Amino acid sequence: MITLTDVTKVYGGGVTALAGVTLTIADGELVAIVGPSGSGKSTMLNMLGTLDRPTSGSVQISGYDVGTLSENQLSALRARHIGFVFQQFHLAAGTSALKNVADGLLYSGLRTDERNRRAAAALARVGLGHRLEHRPHELSGGERQRVAVARAVAGDPSLLLADEPTGALDSASGAGVMELLRELHAGGTTVVIITHDQEIAASLSRQVRMRDGQVIADTAQPGFALSEAGR
Ligand code: ADP
Ligand code: MG
Repeated sequence: MITLTDVTKVYGGGVTALAGVTLTIADGELVAIVGPSGSGKSTMLNMLGTLDRPTSGSVQISGYDVGTLSENQLSALRARHIGFVFQQFHLAAGTSALKNVADGLLYSGLRTDERNRRAAAALARVGLGHRLEHRPHELSGGERQRVAVARAVAGDPSLLLADEPTGALDSASGAGVMELLRELHAGGTTVVIITHDQEIAASLSRQVRMRDGQVIADTAQPGFALSEAGR
């Protein structure tokens, strides 16, 4: 379970990206984060993933208060529990799919052969068991994103955070990646997806809508209408 309590984030230069966000995500949820560009979605995902610390307020993940953990402890928490997928894949160029995924396990403490074994298994799981030695430029956009998903889940995280994972893909490849994320959710992973795609958002069990750094609607809150929560 993750709880953000009255979280604000003010970037250098005085931009208030989050203006008091309180949100709880339970284990096993599948959540869509929606809202206009600049509304604070990525900033909030970074908070959920402990990639950044709030200016004020608290972030609790699986009982840990993120604010009390050192950078090393946060890295360990991420390595053990959280997987990330980004719009632009973030794969290492000129490096095989297998090595891209295996390198995601560098901080796991596992030996090289075990990292490679798990990477191959993760690639098989996303339907790329026949592409282990392909490098990113030899793969389609959809396949690249599958490699990124394999990297995100190779360490068996309990939480998968995806920032517009289908944003750079054609609709067929995007649908394939979404199906993959659904399968991971069905397997027990908590999945949070930022998306611009209304159809994808509407198909997920919970939608959190942001505007101007605030959560303005959340379908998980009874009585809080999705269309207009007012401000
Ligand atoms: P979204 O993902 O919804 O498009 P972001 O969370 O990326 O929104 O950004 C929210 C606001 O914070 C925007 O006004 C953006 O320009 C600003 N912002 C995001 N990242 C930074 C940063 N590293 N430094 C300064 N301002 C930032
Ligand atoms: Mg964003």
